[in-house]
Amino acid sequence: MDRLNIGPIENHRQREEGVLVYPVYSRRSQGLSIGINLFPDHKGCSFDCPYCEVFPFKQDTPFSLELMEKQLFRELSAAQNQGIIVKDVCFSGNGEPSLAPDFFAALDAAARIRDRVVPDAALVLITNGTGLLHDPIFQGLAQAASGPKALRIWLKLDAGTAAWYTLMARSAIPFERLIRAIKEFAACAPITIQTMLCAIQGKPPPQEEVTAWEGLVAALAEIGACARCSTGERARGIQDIQLYGKARPAPEDPLATALAPAYLEERAASLKAALERSLPPPARSAIRIRVFP
Ligand code: SF4
Repeated sequence: MDRLNIGPIENHRQREEGVLVYPVYSRRSQGLSIGINLFPDHKGCSFDCPYCEVFPFKQDTPFSLELMEKQLFRELSAAQNQGIIVKDVCFSGNGEPSLAPDFFAALDAAARIRDRVVPDAALVLITNGTGLLHDPIFQGLAQAASGPKALRIWLKLDAGTAAWYTLMARSAIPFERLIRAIKEFAACAPITIQTMLCAIQGKPPPQEEVTAWEGLVAALAEIGACARCSTGERARGIQDIQLYGKARPAPEDPLATALAPAYLEERAASLKAALERSLPPPARSAIRIRVFP
């Protein structure tokens, strides 16, 4: 039954085609993450990010909840038997997990297996936020984030202007509509903001975009600030901000290219200053800003 001792993969591209559950070293989780892929037979996404790492693949076995449960139990048990700490169980994979028909059933199963085998591991959803436009998904995620599952929602916010969003997401979903839903959600549940910082066709985000993005993050942080207690703890709104760079190959390379690590550090410092200008001290010190070049 043991499987994990083959060694976790370094990135998603190395996983076997069709695999539903895979171990991966995660920079952002800072350790072993067990990924769950709800799209083994096709890419299923509402975005078309130019830096997307999902390469074309050919296999036609659809997602199976039963198989996912078996594989997840096997990988988590193997980690436990081998004395390896699992940092999280993470819904990611070839698309937008919250839009997969089996997402909530898979989430229930993953929470149950996590609680049984590795109760200290976090449960994470990496999302582009477009599921929030659908009320049942919005409500389900708010409950999962605030309730006993303690689902951590890592929410993509790559742009502060419609112009940069158009370049980064290439989606038919209007920017303003998506931002409205994200603001509503931040008022209901804790979130981690994830922002990809890269150049498109050799050009970094223009200053207008940088300023607008900082204003948007500050506005989202203020939404959470109304829920903080006097110690600065935040039960909802932004908990954490992750700025990450393009570190791995993508099918559309070189359309999107990496920016220098120093640029990401500068953006983090600039955001920190923007938050200091707009938030009271307990709230801003409760928000972590981390950089992953
Ligand atoms: S949201 Fe994620 S899966 Fe979808 S296109 Fe962008 S990077 Fe790829």
